[in-house]
Amino acid sequence: MLALIPVLLMAVQDPVSGISLELARTRRARIRHVGYELQFELDNSARETGGHVRLTFRLTDVSKPVVLDFSGTGLANVTINRMPASKEEVRRVHDHLVLDTKKLRPGRNIFEADFRSSIAPTGTPLTVYRDATDGKDYYYTLLVPSDAHGLFPCFDQPDLKAIFTLLLTIPAKWAAIGNTPPVGAPKAAHGDKRTWEFHGTEALPTYLFAFACGPFVAVEGPEVEFRIGGERKAATMRLWLRASKRAALDKDRLFAMHANSVRWYERYFGVSYPFSQLDFVLCPGFPYGGMEHAGAIFYRESALVFDHEPTSVELLRRSTLIYHEVAHQWFGNLVTMRWFDDLWLKEGFATHMGYSVLAELEPESAAWLRFHQRVKPAAYRIDTTAGTVPVYQSLGNLADAKSNYGAIVYNKAPAVLRELEHRIGKPAFRKGMQLFLEKHAFANADWQDLLAAFEKASGSDLSRWSARWILGPGMPQVALSWRSDDDGKVTSCGISQNAAGGGPTTPWPLRLDLLVGNKDGSTRSLSVTADEALTLVEGLTGSAAPDWILLNPKDIAYGQFLLDDVSAARLCDVLVADRMKEPLAEAVAFTALHDMVRETRLDPRSFVRVGFAMLSRERDPLTHSRVLSATLTAVQRWLSGADAQTWHGKIETLLRDQLLAGELKGFELQAFRALCRLARDKRTLTICHELRDGSGSVPGLQPGIQDRFLAAAALLAAGHPSASKAIESLGKGDVAKYRYQAAAAEASVAAKERYFAGFLDPKQPPEQWISGCLSFFHWPGQGELTLPYLERALERVEWVKANRRIFFMPAWIDEFINAHSSAKGLAVVDAFLAKRDDLSVDIRRKLLQSVDALRRAVAIKAKYR
Ligand SMILES: [Zn+2]
Repeated sequence: MLALIPVLLMAVQDPVSGISLELARTRRARIRHVGYELQFELDNSARETGGHVRLTFRLTDVSKPVVLDFSGTGLANVTINRMPASKEEVRRVHDHLVLDTKKLRPGRNIFEADFRSSIAPTGTPLTVYRDATDGKDYYYTLLVPSDAHGLFPCFDQPDLKAIFTLLLTIPAKWAAIGNTPPVGAPKAAHGDKRTWEFHGTEALPTYLFAFACGPFVAVEGPEVEFRIGGERKAATMRLWLRASKRAALDKDRLFAMHANSVRWYERYFGVSYPFSQLDFVLCPGFPYGGMEHAGAIFYRESALVFDHEPTSVELLRRSTLIYHEVAHQWFGNLVTMRWFDDLWLKEGFATHMGYSVLAELEPESAAWLRFHQRVKPAAYRIDTTAGTVPVYQSLGNLADAKSNYGAIVYNKAPAVLRELEHRIGKPAFRKGMQLFLEKHAFANADWQDLLAAFEKASGSDLSRWSARWILGPGMPQVALSWRSDDDGKVTSCGISQNAAGGGPTTPWPLRLDLLVGNKDGSTRSLSVTADEALTLVEGLTGSAAPDWILLNPKDIAYGQFLLDDVSAARLCDVLVADRMKEPLAEAVAFTALHDMVRETRLDPRSFVRVGFAMLSRERDPLTHSRVLSATLTAVQRWLSGADAQTWHGKIETLLRDQLLAGELKGFELQAFRALCRLARDKRTLTICHELRDGSGSVPGLQPGIQDRFLAAAALLAAGHPSASKAIESLGKGDVAKYRYQAAAAEASVAAKERYFAGFLDPKQPPEQWISGCLSFFHWPGQGELTLPYLERALERVEWVKANRRIFFMPAWIDEFINAHSSAKGLAVVDAFLAKRDDLSVDIRRKLLQSVDALRRAVAIKAKYR
């Protein structure tokens, strides 16, 4: 027993795996003025990079070892304060380097080492994309949330900001992009290589350090003012991409969107653009839409360049993506969260600000209608489940930070911020942000700092608001009820609040508008504060009984707003008859009806009738898209038997007829894409067949290559004899991704088996291909065929979490679970949840979030047979 004690003591002192909050706090308390001089060397076809790090930092106390983070493949020639350090003096413990106290000193310290780290097409901090057409390699880093230490030794936590200088030694023909401009031209290195040196950065957290290199080409944009070395200077904005994509580039528009939003944010925040350049790199195979690296935003190439006339959905996604990433240059990059528990702070603000800019710069976009249609639904879907979490999510270890990403942070946070902006007023909201950015520029801050700034600017106490909307989980289910007497006068009206999906019932602070539809067709509005579990609405008592009442018609508040049964029935008629003239109120009413079905309080057939009527007349592309997707969900998941068949046929016919008649002008492609996934009828398959071959009878339809693959996938799923061969031969150039995805739609056990194995193979294609492939693997109507993979997918969820990037694991869980709407599918998930009580909290939460929609589908089907 005694002999074991020293070993145990040592083990207690050693850091745990990953970056724990405790480790981060300890380091933050004694380490300051961090700087990294980093050198990397890369070759074409490299599967590993070699590099050198010179890390400097100031230490306030040397009584304890210093812990660095590193999980690369090799480390050599380590020195501490220029003295060689032995393996005992720099121990590798988990993904850390523990620096013994012997060679450390108070004040400035220098750690130097050579390191090696691996490069792969997927899953590594430095990623390679191999262009199948020309065999060229494109390299880019992606270090968020804490993957920098997979690449080089560092303090991988957001509140130890550092100055980075970078040297890149790469083949002479390559381009190189860093967070800052290069210092002059590259210098000759050994062999056929050149070394690029970049200016030192402003203070950045490790997750915002980035570089990209490879045969990228530059496109120069307008001059914009930047802050270089504390001064304002004009410099040229540059965009980097693969040469093969240059012809399709809408460069003027892209540069204008960046430049205009930079100017807008500068004015709005009262803080100039804080970094020394604004370049953007279009990365092929990039796993996210974009990543906001300071001064060098990396975008997914296919989010910004199109080989077809882009759809309204694609254009909106592009605008909001760009405005979101540019907002991060202030929110996230200039002022950074202290820890990833406040991840929402940067993401919520970037999305909220992104839509605010959209509303200002593209007034025709109906930004807040789009916000309701495209941002809020994903939040509501999670926030009504048992797996929901607060906007602020405590986090013990950055190894689990991936699980903090999701709709609560990206979709709920901006929605509650919009409510806060209305609550305290636009001037106070803006002033609060200005105070916050000024006070914490180039440093770190948390929600309490911003809350204090809002309270100061508005002169109001926001503690209850913060406790309920930011720090607490869930959302209110708000319901209205009213009674009238024999004379047709309202005798009472009340608004009740409960926690949607169960849970604690402390009411949320809530301000609400009501739109009241009178029997003569006119409307009137009322505003109420409904902070209590039950609030009486005095304003209606004694007035004539309304036809219907709609809560939250301007969509300012966040919550689930249910209808009373009379209003639900009447609003179905109003929407069918197109009598709601205000588009946002119509969208809110449509959502409320959708929620009524989800709560099994409205027959899904009534909802589908409304959706069908709206689709018959709707000519706004984005509203059409939202109505179509909600209506199809209802048909495919909530109706059964003959009802499902009939409505599927009616919608397929409607869409096809509208397309052929040229009625969907300007959004033919968007409608065609939806139609492909509905294709069962011979006449629809004929359209797919013609389109795949490059001919076609649909007026105005201009498909891209990915659409021809989609058409081929529809034929393949329908068992068309030539489809499989067609996919093999379709398209030239860099189309491997589309070919890979389309072939997954094949309705055979052999194909599903092959694909499923590939999804879990780390040597398979970029994970962005796989995430895009899951909806082909689960082609509509193939539920029976894919059901056996549900349990197998769940069993591999821990591997998926460990080996894939941030957004992959939740998408994996959701696609496999919600490809099904049957009791059989639900039984598989419930059995898994019951059997696996050892699942980590975050995985269990994601499962509970996703199974909710399946559970509701089964309940709706059971009630409305
Ligand atoms: Zn973001």
